[in-house]
Parts: sequence; structure tokens; C-alpha cells
Amino acid sequence: MDSRRRVPRTDALLADPRLAEAADRLGRSIVKAAVAAAQERARSGEIPGETVADAAVASLPAHAASLRPVINATGVLLHTNLGRAPLSAAARDAVLAAAGCTDVEFDLATGRRDRRGRGTLAALAEACPAAGAVHVVNNNAAALVLAATVLAQDREIVISRGEMVEIGDGFRLPELLASTGARLREVGTTNRTTAADYAEAVGPGTGFVLKVHPSNFRIEGFTAQASVRELAALGVPVVADIGSGLLAPDPVLPDEPDAATALADGADLVTASGDKLLGGPQAGLLLGRSDLVERLRRHPLARALRVGKLTLAALEASLRGPEPPAAQSLHADVRTLRERAELLAKELTEHDALAVDSVAKVGGGGAPGVELPSAAVSLPEAYAEPLRRAGIVGRVESGRLLLDLRSAPADLDVTTFARRVRSAAVTGEGR
Ligand SMILES: *Cc1c(COP(=O)(O)O)cnc(C)c1O
Repeated sequence: MDSRRRVPRTDALLADPRLAEAADRLGRSIVKAAVAAAQERARSGEIPGETVADAAVASLPAHAASLRPVINATGVLLHTNLGRAPLSAAARDAVLAAAGCTDVEFDLATGRRDRRGRGTLAALAEACPAAGAVHVVNNNAAALVLAATVLAQDREIVISRGEMVEIGDGFRLPELLASTGARLREVGTTNRTTAADYAEAVGPGTGFVLKVHPSNFRIEGFTAQASVRELAALGVPVVADIGSGLLAPDPVLPDEPDAATALADGADLVTASGDKLLGGPQAGLLLGRSDLVERLRRHPLARALRVGKLTLAALEASLRGPEPPAAQSLHADVRTLRERAELLAKELTEHDALAVDSVAKVGGGGAPGVELPSAAVSLPEAYAEPLRRAGIVGRVESGRLLLDLRSAPADLDVTTFARRVRSAAVTGEGR
């Protein structure tokens, strides 16, 4: 076939300086795959043979990993499908600095082994002085598994029927806890559980009472639940899974539990996620009584749940550095968001863009039902797909695509944002 002869050979293409440079940066296999795909497009007649190198260059990914950065314009501040909390610039910087060899478990002054992640643990302890000790594991689920394994294996975890929650993607807290060999002792009903229900169930076989914050749903109406303070009077350990990782109360979210309050109310151990409202990397935080934390830390399972140096770096910088983006988004003044929406809409007038009021949410990561006043740019619904393909994820509402500015990065300047929307829209039209 004529066209077949016009497809350049692989070695000739790989000698193209742009592809040779990309092979150094991304690795040969990624570049070869891009070249092979472009050759295939030429063979099928989709593109002319002389443009194969250009097509291969254009299709190269920006990074050697397939995860693509996206702009979260959904209005859901903590979007689990989009990686939950975005890291602050300080945290990204710290991750990069720790990416090579680093003194994660080494004392440069003495040349001896040192406590792993000591700087991060100190930062967490300082951020929550009510905790006698702290520990960090892979995520909140891991924190709960460790607590259940150490404190309740072959014993009972007393838990309200209203708090037997599914955390997402089919994973259910009760099953997770039962997988450790702990037995669940359910008390109360879906809508009402009182301190007396717990009191009747606790006894010599109790490992601990678990209080789980319903972070992704809300029960309204005829409801009752026992407080941490009431549970602390039962004479057995109380573990409070607060979920979202607020270390202290936040006035914007008056109903969201926080570690300091739970500990002050008598919780023996608090577990939380690092990548929800705390705004850090995926991690599980354990805060509480030092004897319990020490037992958890020393258990063999702790080694299987430990976090890497990148997580330790990001968490410490999130705790010590400037306010992370998740908190900034939560606290952003709606007037500022409106101004941004108006500027962005103005830049996009030729695309039928309008600045509109919107309602943002915290997301599966906490504060269900809380409505955060926000502002958005409204575009025709047909923009949703091309923008999404270009990594700009909004939400479709009443036949329009909304780009919500409360969840979008505050440091993304409007001109750049508009340019990205325009270029995605143009690419979409040509599709
Ligand atoms: C999010 C959440 C979990 C799961 O946390 P991961 O860090 O994703 O493992 C568990 N419990 C509650 C209450 C949560 O909100």
C-alpha cells in the first residue's frame, strides 16, 4: 500500500530531537508508545506520514505517571474522585525536597538512627495539644483497623446502629472492623441511640466504644445520639472517628467534630483523615492517650500501615506551613469568588459565559448538608465534555455547565483559567 510506505520508521522517529529529549525525560517506553500510536494513525490514513513525528510529540504526556492534574471546579471542595484535598505550595515543595534520600529516620548530627517522621509527629502534637501522643498511618481506615486490632481483637466494639456507615466505593466500616477479628456489638436504632443503650452493652468483653461521625450523610427528624462526654463516663475506652480531620473547631462548620473537643470531652483516642478538612496528604491520624497510642505504634501491624517520607513531608508542611487550599476554599469570602466569576465570565463572553451565584459543598469528606455560598461561571452544557477532557471538571446543573470558583484553586489567575477554557473549547469544536 502506498500510504504504508510513507509511514516513517520507528528508529528515524526516535532520532527526532524532540522525541529524543522526551525519551530522556519520560523514559523510552512512553515515547515509543506515542510513536507507535502516531504511526498507526498514519497507516490508517488519519494523518499524513510527514506529520507522524509532530503527532507523536503532541500526544506525549506531561509526566511519566498517568495521573493528570485537574482543576476542581465542581463546587465540591473535597472530591474523593479528584484526590480530595489539594496540597499547598509549601507541601508540594516539601514533597519534592524529600523525594530523594532524606533524613526521615536518621540523625545527621549524631550519625545514628532516629525516630521516623519525628518532625511530622511533633507538628501534629503541637497542633493538637490535647493529645497525649500522636501517630500517623496510611489513612483513617488504617487508623481504625489498627485501633480495632490492638484494642478489640476477640473482644467487642460497641457501636450505634446509626453509625454503621459505608465510607465509599463499597467499603463499609463494620466489615472493615470485623476483618480484624473484633466483634461488633450494635446498639440503638438507625435514628436513635442513647447513652443507656451503650451502658447496657458494655462489660468485661468490651474492647472499646466507637463513635463514628456520619460524614457523608445526615439523618434528620426524630433522632438522638450519645455524646462523647456521655460515652466517656461508661468506664471503657472511647474511640472517636471524627473523619474530616479538623484539629480544632471551625466556626464555618459548627456541627463538624474536631479532635481537640473530642479529647477534651473524654475520648481516649481520636482517628481522622489527613486529606479532608486538614488539607494535607492521604494519611490516618491517631491522637489520644499516650499509653494507647504507644501500644498501637508498637503493634506489628503498625509496620504494614506506616506512611512514606513523601506523606510525612506533606503532612508536616500542611500543619506548619501556610493555610492549605482546602481551608482557604472553606473560608473564602463569597464576594471575592463573585469578583473572580465576573472577571472570568467577561473573558469568556464569546462563549456565552455568565457569572452566577452557586452553592458549594464540603463533599464526602465532611459536613454533609452544609451549603457554602459560592459563585460560578455558567457555560453551555456542551462545554462539559471538552473541558473535562482538558482537565477542567465542573458540574452540570439545569442544562448549564457551572465552573464553581470556591473549589477551584484560588491561586489560578483568571486570565490563565480563561485561556485554558478557551483552548479546551476550541479543541472540543474540532473534535
Ligand atoms: C472519610 C472517613 C473515613 C475513611 O477515611 P480514609 O482516610 O479515606 O480511610 C472513615 N470514617 C469517617 C467518619 C470518614 O469521614
